[in-house]
Amino acid sequence: MTSRMTPLLERNEQFARTYAPAPLGLPAAQVIVITCLDHRVDPAITLGLRLGDAPVLRNAGGRVTQPVIEEIAYLAFLGQRLSGGQLTDDRRFEVAVIHHTQCGTGFLADPGFRREASKATGVDEAALEASAVGDPRATVSADVGRLLTSPLLPPRMGVSGHVYDIETGRVITVVDARYP
Ligand SMILES: [Zn+2]
Repeated sequence: MTSRMTPLLERNEQFARTYAPAPLGLPAAQVIVITCLDHRVDPAITLGLRLGDAPVLRNAGGRVTQPVIEEIAYLAFLGQRLSGGQLTDDRRFEVAVIHHTQCGTGFLADPGFRREASKATGVDEAALEASAVGDPRATVSADVGRLLTSPLLPPRMGVSGHVYDIETGRVITVVDARYP
């Protein structure tokens, strides 16, 4: 029985041969990454993340939506529990929001395209508009602001904003880490 997964499962077989499990604990890089689900912007590859380094939240555009904010609130709570409440100022975490150039959600900035997409998919037009990344520098700044002003943002959590350039492979920092 073969499926599209067959070659990937073969790669997993290779991977498992030299695998060493990471223990349940705080992520080593002390960073939580929010980015787009685009297959060209995998942060494990672009940022060299290894297993156990950083939780990664991905959606269309890498937008800071209410569900994303709720995930971060829960991750912070879990982190506190796993560390026995030992998360002090010198062990602060940073949420890195990374948007990218050539994002497929960019088309959604156009009202005509948005209307067609909504009609064809049944997804609400406002939800489509909220995921649009036309100018990644502008949307990443807006999303850093949204997270910093959320009452659910855990204490001692910094937020930074970055843009990944598809052409060069470089991540440029647009907003340095800020704390609420
Ligand atoms: Zn994208």
